[in-house]
Amino acid sequence: MVKEQLRARGIHDPGVLDAFNKVERHKFVLPEVRDSAYGDFPLSIGEGQTISQPYIVALMTECLEVSSSHTVLEIGTGSGYQASILAEQALHVYSIERYEVLASRAESLLKELGYNNITITVGDGTLGWQAYSPFDRIIVTAAVPRVPLPLLEQLRNGGKLIIPLGGSFGQVLTLIEKEQDKINYRNICDCVFVPLVGKYGAKTNN
Ligand code: SAH
Repeated sequence: MVKEQLRARGIHDPGVLDAFNKVERHKFVLPEVRDSAYGDFPLSIGEGQTISQPYIVALMTECLEVSSSHTVLEIGTGSGYQASILAEQALHVYSIERYEVLASRAESLLKELGYNNITITVGDGTLGWQAYSPFDRIIVTAAVPRVPLPLLEQLRNGGKLIIPLGGSFGQVLTLIEKEQDKINYRNICDCVFVPLVGKYGAKTNN
């Protein structure tokens, strides 16, 4: 996976590659798809949600340039895989998940794996997590047409935020940098994520 899917496509940050070598992706997927855990595609994690393709997880992480002094906010814990990759490089990762069942599964797995720098909560991540803000880095792992305002507010000056922006059929992975309260946007690549559902995201009845 690291050689053929990541290095071959230009992922070169040693911290990111080390994290991928260390974190065992097969532990984060459902038992019935464990044989495909290292495939070049997203996989179902239950509740209609997916764990992203390894390359996309790596690309998002590399774009964020996470360092060991950074506090990171993740929206969309899902399986906890992205959180663990981030936790290999960051000081602390705060992660918010909408589905209780996914959050508690991820929480117990990450605890079992020995991570003590990841804090998970159940809630609407479009509101951010005011109590621990400002964040040095924010990663949104679900798609939304516009950046939720609370996330921009909770990003530290000089901080970076990565997010798939667009409608339900396709989005543009976008890297945002906040400098002196000015927001710069950079398009990274096309991508497809499940929708971000919440007050500043898509609406739903469930
Ligand atoms: N980062 C995950 C992949 C997540 S898929 C991993 O590594 O496995 C996107 C996740 O975002 C889903 O689990 C979905 O339930 C969650 N989600 C969608 N809207 C959300 C919201 N408003 N707040 C928190 N989580 C949300």
